[in-house]
Amino acid sequence: MTTVAAYAASSPKAPLERTTIERRPVGEFDVLIDIKFAGICHSDIHQVHEGWGEATFPMVPGHEIAGVVSEVGPGVTRHAVGDRVGVGCMVDSCRVCDNCRAGLEQYCSDGPVYTYNGVGKDGATTYGGYSEKIVVDENYVVRVPDGLSLDVAAPLLCAGITSYSPLKHWNAGPGKKVAVVGMGGLGHMGVKIAHALGAEVTVLSQSLRKKDDGLRLGADHYYATGDPATFTELAGTFDLILSTVSAPLPLDTYLSLLKTDGAFVNVGAPEEPVSLNLFSVIGGRKTLAGSGIGGIRETQEMLDFCAEPGFGAEIELIAASEINDAYERVQSSDVRYRFVIDTATI
Ligand code: NAP
Ligand code: ZN
Ligand code: ZN
Repeated sequence: MTTVAAYAASSPKAPLERTTIERRPVGEFDVLIDIKFAGICHSDIHQVHEGWGEATFPMVPGHEIAGVVSEVGPGVTRHAVGDRVGVGCMVDSCRVCDNCRAGLEQYCSDGPVYTYNGVGKDGATTYGGYSEKIVVDENYVVRVPDGLSLDVAAPLLCAGITSYSPLKHWNAGPGKKVAVVGMGGLGHMGVKIAHALGAEVTVLSQSLRKKDDGLRLGADHYYATGDPATFTELAGTFDLILSTVSAPLPLDTYLSLLKTDGAFVNVGAPEEPVSLNLFSVIGGRKTLAGSGIGGIRETQEMLDFCAEPGFGAEIELIAASEINDAYERVQSSDVRYRFVIDTATI
């Protein structure tokens, strides 16, 4: 076992504080990663607050991990010491179910082993990226391409793949009108990726505060959802709406913005249920769907896709001592557009 420094919440809603945790010895197929940067995802906050249900404490959040391999087990073939690598929301899965075999490990029928607040195959609680080092099976580690620096690559491991996977699955591209709801961590990556895929992109944000940024990142149009005129003007407009909102939305209102056969795809994971009038999908043969992160192969594909034009996330780099302030700011939609922890400060 190796003792490493980390930031943890000791109980639900407790502020995160410096502590130490144990990392397992490097096994035959494991890599030891010196974590350089860890993004703060809104999911970290939902879980620290037990907003999604009972959680395990102490909790070391963090599933947007970028770092450098410092040791490999004897059976490792995919990564070598010195490689720049990333780890996202999963660190293992059953590997034999239909979903795992199809590269959809995030939908593993046994449930994947989540990077933190999960239970590893060794029965131990998993601890995430707000820490100095992590040991992960090589199959759940991806390569960060040369075109991306590690700080802006870190958020791609969750925010990037969670936007990329549904945009690809629902064929965002030339000739398609795509709306991204919420200009936060996921949303701003949704804008960049949908634009890079060739779609006509509209941001639907609560206000116009972040309009200049939205247009700079690739949006063609930017509307405030706080203005009721937005919903009359844009009725029946979109082929695809990607909602990244962390709070419940009035779904019927948003579904009215779709064209016939359009799809509203939800990746936001609010803590409360939402209601739906089913006539909102009957008229216009509309699809209401969800999507969870992405598989390991697709995560690598997304990193390569972003590295080609060379875009990562827009980040605000912080010291570990600023994590609790960052949580407050994320909760008040005051994030531009991902907080990333410099783990050298832990
Ligand atoms: P974030 O950075 O806080 O962004 C969420 C954005 O939603 C905010 O910036 C804000 O955008 C908008 N918003 C917040 N509260 C709102 C409200 N009451 N009404 C309308 N809009 C509101 O969060 P994130 O890290 O991108 O994560 C977003 C959600 O996705 C979270 O629930 C997270 O847990 C979930 N998530 C899901 C997956 C998955 O696999 N499905 C993966 C990662 C994260 P504006 O200021 O532009 O309005
Ligand atoms: Zn996340
Ligand atoms: Zn499986």
